[in-house]
Parts: sequence; structure tokens; C-alpha cells
Amino acid sequence: MNLLGVYGAAGFGREVMGMLDPTVLQGRKAVFIDDADGPAAVNGRECMKFDEFVAKAASGSTVTIAIADSAIRQKLADKCAAFDMRCEAVRAANTVVMDNVEMGDGAILCPFATLTSNITIGRHFHANIYSYVAHDCVIGDFVTFAPAVKCNGNVHIMDHAYIGSGAIIRQGAPGKPLVIGRGAVVGMGAVVTKDVPAGATVVGNPARPLERR
Ligand code: UDP
Repeated sequence: MNLLGVYGAAGFGREVMGMLDPTVLQGRKAVFIDDADGPAAVNGRECMKFDEFVAKAASGSTVTIAIADSAIRQKLADKCAAFDMRCEAVRAANTVVMDNVEMGDGAILCPFATLTSNITIGRHFHANIYSYVAHDCVIGDFVTFAPAVKCNGNVHIMDHAYIGSGAIIRQGAPGKPLVIGRGAVVGMGAVVTKDVPAGATVVGNPARPLERR
């Protein structure tokens, strides 16, 4: 039968499973996929390894990868592609998505997430609960927002960046976006007022590079 596989049966996966109402499922059965040895069911939903999922899944089946670690997400997205398994973008029923928003395969919008207008988002973006993305933002692939991230207008966030819970990103300007570089990490509660270089970790208000002692 047609299945929707939530890849990852840990914390985030259980949250995403709870978002899948009949509108999203459209007659498909929701199951967990998890490669670790574990119980046969989690929160009342069947849990299986990827090979078993592929063997059981009819051609209309899809996967959504509900694991916060973006490197694991990319590895599993590549695995799904190798097995011709389509990754589906899913959103909770109470999310708000306004005009001219493009979102790539496998993106997940959790409850109360809001995307306003003229926004481009890549593959496998995660917007955790209560996060927003405002006008004219460009978000790359495998970007992760923890809960309650406030991303204001004209911000560009490159692939694999991680934005911690409650962070606030100052708005950029038309033609001069505020840029958060590839793989950058923004700490929880940080207030980002200027560009963040690729790979950097910034914390605090105003956000500054983390000094490791
Ligand atoms: N996982 C998996 N295959 C992989 C890597 C991870 O099935 O190749 C599963 C892992 O067994 C665990 C979940 O993904 O159940 C990740 O859990 P974690 O608590 O690290 O992530 P979170 O739910 O917080 O995003």
C-alpha cells in the first residue's frame, strides 16, 4: 500500500508524525522508518527499517526525513534518491504560507510556523514550532530552524546552517541581504545583526563568534 514514511523515530520524528492529519496523508498509511534496532511500534505507529519500508511501499509512497542533524538528513536524502523514493514536503495544518513561496522537496513546517511572502526555500528545510521566515528571504538546502526562530526580511541563509531556538535575525535590505553562511551555527537566543561567515558559530546579543577556551 501507499505509505508515508517518517524517517527517524526519535524526538523530532515523533513530533512530525503527530502533524500528519488526513489532509496530509490522503489515504496513505503513516509509518516510522528507523535504522536502529528498536520497538516494532512507536506512539502506536509501525516502525521499520529502510529496507523493509522499500519492500512494503507501493509506488505512491513517499518519505519525509524528520532528523534535525542536517548531515544525516542529506545522507538519507541521497539514499532515498538512490532507491527512487520521493521525499515529500509536509506542513502542519495550522502553518501559514502566504504568496510566492517556493519550497523544495522534503521540507517540514511544524505547528505555528509562518512563511510570509516572496520566499525561496531549498530541500529538506526544517522550521520547528513557532518559527517564521519573513519576506524576500532565500533559504538553502538542509537548513534547520530550532523552535521559535525569528528570521526577518531580506535574509539569505546558506545550506546546512543551523539556527538555535529563539534566535532573532535582523532584516537585510533589498539588494543587500543579511547573509548567514553555509554550515554556520547561530546559538539559542542569539540576536544576529550582521553577516555570519560560513562555518562560524555565533552566540549572544549582539551575536559574536563563540570563543572556545
Ligand atoms: N537514524 C536512522 N538512520 C540513520 C541515522 C539516524 O534511522 O542513518 C535515526 C536514529 O536511529 C534515531 C533518529 O534517526 O532514532 C535520530 O534521533 P536524534 O535524537 O539524533 O534526532 P532528533 O529526533 O532529535 O532530530
